[in-house]
Amino acid sequence: MIIGGGPAGLATALTLRDHNIPCVVIDNHMGSTVKLGESLAPSANTIFRKLSLEEVLISKLHSLYVGNNVVWGDASLRQRYFLNEPYGDGRHLNRALFEKQLQDIAIERGVILLKNHRLTNITEQDNKIIVSCSDADNSTKIITADFIADCSGRASIVAKKMGIKKQIIDNLASYYFITEQSEESLKGMTFIESVEDGWWYAAPLPDNKVIVNFMSDSDLHPTKSTSLNDWLLGKIATTQHLKNYLPTIISSTTEVGIKTATTSLLEKPGGKQWIAVGDALCTYDPLTSFGITNALVSGHNAANAISGFLDGNIDSLSEYITSQMALFDKSVALLQNQYQSEQRWFKHPFWERRQL
Ligand SMILES: Cc1cc2nc3c(=O)[nH]c(=O)nc-3n(C[C@H](O)[C@H](O)[C@H](O)COP(=O)(O)OP(=O)(O)OC[C@H]3O[C@@H](n4cnc5c(N)ncnc54)[C@H](O)[C@@H]3O)c2cc1C
Repeated sequence: MIIGGGPAGLATALTLRDHNIPCVVIDNHMGSTVKLGESLAPSANTIFRKLSLEEVLISKLHSLYVGNNVVWGDASLRQRYFLNEPYGDGRHLNRALFEKQLQDIAIERGVILLKNHRLTNITEQDNKIIVSCSDADNSTKIITADFIADCSGRASIVAKKMGIKKQIIDNLASYYFITEQSEESLKGMTFIESVEDGWWYAAPLPDNKVIVNFMSDSDLHPTKSTSLNDWLLGKIATTQHLKNYLPTIISSTTEVGIKTATTSLLEKPGGKQWIAVGDALCTYDPLTSFGITNALVSGHNAANAISGFLDGNIDSLSEYITSQMALFDKSVALLQNQYQSEQRWFKHPFWERRQL
């Protein structure tokens, strides 16, 4: 039984099907709400091959992501293309389509997907997990399973229902807006620019749209007197380079919001007959561009571990957890190096907190 039909849940389900293990995925995501995260790093190509999902990336509806425009450490703008990397180019995903493609392939390969279903309760009886879920009309289904994977993203809903806490490492938040442009100004590049109180990140979306995120700590920006949109536009005007890359934005913002982007880790990421996967287990700073790739890799590894467990290998779950924790520690160390390579505003709380 898999709770959550995002990249982690679907990679778990697809790999379980490779082991001929039946599985049900429930997901409550409503298409009307935006999921942030569209820049798929080139290193993701490997996991797409492992999951036999190469066809997904061929779609013209995902555009090529060829490199990054970076302003970091000093005021100069550097172009870093993926040309010399072993994995090839990445993709700027049409995120809604990407998840729909994964869901359709999962169904073709025998996964049972219950869309618009929300987990409501979990109990245990006679070594079985009893899961209750309800749909939009509040009609309830009860499903009995041998194992449950928490793939519910930042909600970590299974762990939460068991009373397990999260270690939250920072206060990072994304203040974002989506806007239309008359033509694609970023030309297949993600744009990253550090500023005194955080950093900006902009990436192309389908249909000549662009998402612009200001990443900063939520406690540094208490309630604003102006609207979020006006505040962001005022701040973007103070950037040195990004403002020049988005010449046509500014009038027609289609969506604006704030989302949490904290780095976090579950205090207990698994136990008897359950494990956490993807964002439900740990979340990565978007500066790493690692979230979707990690969700897919962790789903694949989790399913292999579940298969081992169901075959009687008592160590397989703890090995999975140990490897995920090691990856998290490594990524946090790399991230620290990246933040420390920006020293221009080291006395500002945003940067000072990241110098430790
Ligand atoms: C600002 C920001 C920018 C980002 N940018 C990038 C980027 O450029 N590149 C990148 O690789 N990553 C990025 N990420 C991270 C990336 O989006 C996530 O890491 C990725 O979505 C994790 O996948 P997941 O399957 O673990 O979780 P999710 O994609 O969150 O999927 C979890 C699913 O579980 C469902 N669910 C939750 N609760 C329940 C319930 N009770 N019952 C049933 N279903 C439930 C949800 O509806 C959801 O569909 C970004 C994140 C943020 C915050």
